[in-house]
Amino acid sequence: MQLMDNFQRRFQYLRLSITEQCNFQCQYCLPDGYRPNKEHQFLSLNEIGNVVSTFTELGVHKIRLTGGEPTLRRDFIDILSLIATCPSVTELAITTNGSRLLKNIAHWQQAGLNAINLSIDSFSPHVFKLITGQDKLTSLILGVEKALEVGIKKVKINTVLMKNLNDNLSDYLIWLKDRPVELRFIELMETAESQPFFQRYHFSGQMIERQLIEQGWQLQPKAPLSGPAKVYAHSDYQGKIGLIMPYSKDFCKSCNRLRVSSLGQLHYCLFGQAAVDLRDLLVSPAQKAQLKARILASLMIKPEKHLLQEHQIGMLPNLSYIGG
Ligand code: SAM
Ligand code: SF4
Repeated sequence: MQLMDNFQRRFQYLRLSITEQCNFQCQYCLPDGYRPNKEHQFLSLNEIGNVVSTFTELGVHKIRLTGGEPTLRRDFIDILSLIATCPSVTELAITTNGSRLLKNIAHWQQAGLNAINLSIDSFSPHVFKLITGQDKLTSLILGVEKALEVGIKKVKINTVLMKNLNDNLSDYLIWLKDRPVELRFIELMETAESQPFFQRYHFSGQMIERQLIEQGWQLQPKAPLSGPAKVYAHSDYQGKIGLIMPYSKDFCKSCNRLRVSSLGQLHYCLFGQAAVDLRDLLVSPAQKAQLKARILASLMIKPEKHLLQEHQIGMLPNLSYIGG
C-alpha cells in the first residue's frame, strides 16, 4: 500500500512533531518564548509508536522528529529507540535548535538517529543571539563537528533567510569549504503571528541562487522522490547549498511529506486551513485499519498547492506548532 494524492505525489516521508515546547525565542517563530497551554497533551510514547507503525505500513521510510524543540522531551531517547526498531524506517532524522546536541549526540546516534537538520541562522555570535535569544553558537558548531565524528551520515544546517540580517552569502561559504554538510537557505514564511516581521525581513532565495550561479555553483539533479529543495554544489567546496523557496512557482509539485502534530493532527499542507484529527485512533494497534482508512481519505483533500503568495497562511499561529 502506498500514500499518493490526487496529483500523483507519493509520500514516503513523515514529519512528526513530539512537543510544542521550546527553549529558544527565534524572532520569526516564538519571539516571546514558549507559553505552555495546559490543554495541550503531547503524544505519548505509545501513541508515537502507533503513528510510526501505521505510516510505515503505508509506505513511509523516513521519519523526522520535530517540534518545538524535540530534544527537550524527557523520553527522547526512548522515542528514538522505539522508531529505530521499526524495520521499514531507513532514515530517522531530527530538526533541532542544537541546544542539547553536543552533550547528547553520541547517545542519540547509538539509539538509532542517522540524520540531523540543525538550525543555525547566522555564524556571527552577535547576530545568532539577536535572532534566537541564545548565546549558544559555539556549542552548536562543536555539535556539528561531533555529529560528523560519531558517524551521523546526513548533517544539514537550516538557515532562515532574513533581509539585512543574515543574507550575505560569503559569510556561509567559508564555513562550507571543508565540511561535508549541506546548508539550506529557507525563505522566511509568513505566519499569523509573524506578519510585520515577515514584511520587514522576507528575502527571496532567488537572490542567493543568482549569486551561486555567477560563482560557478551547479544545480544537482533531483533524486527520485526528493522534496522541493534545489541543491547546488561546487568542486572547490565539500559542502553543498540547498534552497527552499516556498514562494517560487511549482514549489508544491515535488511535495513529498506529511506532517503529524504533537497533538495527533494530520496536516496535509503546512499552510492548510484544516487538519485531520487522528488522536482517537492512536490508543491501540487494534485501531490500525481505521487509522489507515482515515489517513488515506485525508490525502484525497490535500490541495495541489498552498496560497502563500496570496497571504493565505493557514491555521497555524507559528511553525513551533508543527515543526516546519
Ligand atoms: N526547534 C527546532 C529547530 O528550530 O530546528 C525544530 C522546529 S522549527 C519550527 C523547524 C524549522 O522551521 C527550523 O529550521 C526553523 O528555523 C524553521 N522555521 C520556523 N519558523 C519559520 C518561518 N516563519 N519561516 C521559515 N522557517 C521557519
Ligand atoms: Fe524554537 Fe525552533 Fe521555533 Fe526557534 S524555530 S523558536 S528553536 S521551535
